[in-house]
Amino acid sequence: MFESKTYMSKEIITRFAPSPTGFLHIGGARTALFNWVYAKKMGGKMLLRIEDTDRARSTNEAVDAILDGLNWLGLTWDGEPVSQFNNKQRHAEIANQLVANGHAYKCYCTQQELSDMREKAKAEGNPPKYDGRCRNLDESNVPQGVDPVIRIKTPPNQKLIVKDHVQGDVIFNTENLDDFIILRSDGTPTYMLAVVVDDHDMAVTHIIRGDDHLTNAARQIVIYNALGWDIPDMAHIPLIHGADGAKLSKRHGALGVDAYRKMGYLPSALRNYLARLGWSHGDDEIFSIEQMIEWFELDDLNKGASRFDFLKLANINGQYIRATSPKILYKAMLDLANELNQNDDIIGLSENKNSVIAALPSLQPRAKTILDLINLAQFIYAKRPLLMEEKALAQLTDQNRQMIALIVKQLAEIPEWTNDAIKECVKDFAEQQDIKLGKIAQPLRAALTGRAISLGVFEVMVLLGKDESIMRISDQLN
Ligand code: GLU
Repeated sequence: MFESKTYMSKEIITRFAPSPTGFLHIGGARTALFNWVYAKKMGGKMLLRIEDTDRARSTNEAVDAILDGLNWLGLTWDGEPVSQFNNKQRHAEIANQLVANGHAYKCYCTQQELSDMREKAKAEGNPPKYDGRCRNLDESNVPQGVDPVIRIKTPPNQKLIVKDHVQGDVIFNTENLDDFIILRSDGTPTYMLAVVVDDHDMAVTHIIRGDDHLTNAARQIVIYNALGWDIPDMAHIPLIHGADGAKLSKRHGALGVDAYRKMGYLPSALRNYLARLGWSHGDDEIFSIEQMIEWFELDDLNKGASRFDFLKLANINGQYIRATSPKILYKAMLDLANELNQNDDIIGLSENKNSVIAALPSLQPRAKTILDLINLAQFIYAKRPLLMEEKALAQLTDQNRQMIALIVKQLAEIPEWTNDAIKECVKDFAEQQDIKLGKIAQPLRAALTGRAISLGVFEVMVLLGKDESIMRISDQLN
């Protein structure tokens, strides 16, 4: 559908250009992912540019959060991050150069004039546009003591085509654009100018970003043309919506990447899920990052908005958890406990490393997140006497306590503490008492874990070891 420029001899350079006004949100992370994957695929580079020209809203904490989020997702950039603010001199220089060669001009209009202009346009039923009155000012006759802005001369009545890998050819008529500001009266660049100059100076060949920037692309092309610079390839990706189709809000999952880490998602799973939000390769749901790099094509990016679905993310995360080795999961659990300052878990996990790793193959199928794994593993290092969940306590009726008082004696007699031996002992007991296995397993589970739901009770006893199992059961008899 779309003729791509040939970059045979040129290195492919993409960039991720976040504004550091908040955390790295999920949409930004997906944009970074596509830029990163494409650069990797093409043997090129992904650069990182921090768009920090809005001094009032940019913060160092946000920069840190963005770098941290990218690193956690494994989306590392090439070279040092570029600060857009640091390039302000260069931006001003280019704006003045455009004035010098007649592609831009100084505008001295006052706020009052601009607002009158807007009112007039409104009254005439036209969209508010700057009317170009300063285009041909006689320099000898300009107002004194007024710092002008610089406006680009948008050529009248021209068709501009944004050749976009996702949206196709998008045609804008310059009639709908005005002579927009490229340099403010305080000498700082507008976003429109800064982006073009930086992308050019950073030799960016491909711009992949949200489609909220599509109309900006038309304005940026006006600047590219005025400067006689090559326009990079563009791919404007549709935004992410909530599961209900509405604009993504916090409730829908418009959270920082760090929030997903704290909820116990694996970076590999989140990456996989983000990739599927806006790109697909047949029906493949689960793929490695290497496969994604191999399969990725800009032209396969979806044109329709995608919907963020927590259930799907949890499902993918569960699949990744099942496919990850216990050793790596153990580390992820400990890291998360540390990040969340969960002291009991930090100590418990550290002191019971081997038991936790041994238990993981049984816990993995039951977990959707690393938090689930921690929660499921807690019985291993719970301190005696156990804190009992209400539902577990309900299992420990007088009658059931009498029963476990009997069985604990038989368990204590088991010479070799194996799953089979424990099973046989409990089964025999159920037969002697003429009860179903569950009748004895449930109160045992309650006594052993303090919970009503857990791994199979034989497995729990193996993992706890004989002494600890006997003691936990005995605790419930006193
Ligand atoms: N700084 C812009 C943003 O965070 C992105 C600009 C661009 O990619 O051109 O939305």
